[in-house]
Amino acid sequence: MKRREMLAGLGGITLGACTTTTPASPATTPSTYTPGRTYAPVDSSLDRVTRTVVGLRPYRPQGYRLEGERLGSKTVIHNYGHGGCGVTMSWGTSEAAAGMAGATGNEQIAVIGAGVMGLTTALLLARHGHDVTVYAAELPPNTTSNIAGVLWFPTGYFDDDAVSEDFLRRNRVLIRAARQGFLPYVNRPGYGVYWSDHHALSGREPGSYNTLPGGDDIYPELQRVHENTLFGYNYMERFKALIIDPDYYLDRIMKDAQLAGAKFIAARLDTLDDVLALPQTTIVNCTGLGARDLFGDESLTPIRGQLSHLLPQPEIDYSYVAPTSEGVLYMFPRRTGIVLGGTHEMGESRMEPDPAQVERMVRGHADLASRLSSQA
Ligand SMILES: Cc1cc2nc3c(=O)[nH]c(=O)nc-3n(C[C@H](O)[C@H](O)[C@H](O)COP(=O)(O)OP(=O)(O)OC[C@H]3O[C@@H](n4cnc5c(N)ncnc54)[C@H](O)[C@@H]3O)c2cc1C
Repeated sequence: MKRREMLAGLGGITLGACTTTTPASPATTPSTYTPGRTYAPVDSSLDRVTRTVVGLRPYRPQGYRLEGERLGSKTVIHNYGHGGCGVTMSWGTSEAAAGMAGATGNEQIAVIGAGVMGLTTALLLARHGHDVTVYAAELPPNTTSNIAGVLWFPTGYFDDDAVSEDFLRRNRVLIRAARQGFLPYVNRPGYGVYWSDHHALSGREPGSYNTLPGGDDIYPELQRVHENTLFGYNYMERFKALIIDPDYYLDRIMKDAQLAGAKFIAARLDTLDDVLALPQTTIVNCTGLGARDLFGDESLTPIRGQLSHLLPQPEIDYSYVAPTSEGVLYMFPRRTGIVLGGTHEMGESRMEPDPAQVERMVRGHADLASRLSSQA
């Protein structure tokens, strides 16, 4: 069993996050890739950058916290600490958290936080007929969840030196539930969820490969390729992946939660006493990195990430994650622009964009794009 998650650089932080090393199987090792399609180059230049954003991934080496805790007269269900894959895992862990909250038997439930976890949990609880009130210091568009890329890919949210076998077993089930949760939203007008031809590139030599997180069967059209790869890398995993535009998606699921009856109150809870003073006796904690101060979770560490958005290119319908000599770079296409990423700084909380990183990413993606013409 190989469980190590390589710290590398996606919206999460890994490339080809792995669970098991197995010999290549004929079903997923064709010798050509994406027959019949062409790749338009990303037009990556500084004068096409429309905005650069910074966010802090709420990382716990031992993985997200998903459990109940009795605090005074309250039951608190924790659902936070999803590192670089909170959007990806949102339907999985929120369904579990909502189930635990519902099982307390209380009709009135408080949710703290209105990022992707708080919104999804509130939506699920409201749909199950609970009287839900969300308390949040920040609402969309001002949450970390709004900053995210987003590629649906469960990676970058634990260190296998710190994670338990129990966590991994349960996590596999939740990954699959998380994916299932997004499927009804694909191409639904206004939600910003759609398929992309995704390419995970690496320098790996032939011989073995890692099963993708949650199982290969949840990655449609998966191909493992050592020849004719995008940008000429040694190895490529190509599959259909979901891209989620959080600016559209979070607005819509917040509206859905409101339509289902959830109420939203803009409020920062500064101390545990503030939490215990809430009128509801069942509380779901979806505060992301905020749980470090509010619940004293010292294991939470920020991982700083910076993304630059380029002007839209409707012809770009593929995405990639690529290791380069200057770090891992990734590109996700949105209707509103092209998202360039490739930074992760463990323990760093600076929120100002770093111009040197903007230049590095824009240049790095331009270099990759130039390889397309030499491949043609
Ligand atoms: C650059 C970058 C790229 C990323 N790319 C991806 C990706 O491709 N795929 C993916 O799945 N994930 C990605 N992520 C990770 C993802 O953004 C996070 O895992 C996710 O946003 C966590 O969601 P959350 O709801 O737990 O936290 P948040 O979105 O941070 O929401 C927390 C909520 O709690 C509230 N809160 C906090 N403290 C308090 C308090 N004391 N009182 C009241 N309210 C409080 C906040 O105001 C907010 O409403 C990326 C992150 C970054 C930074």
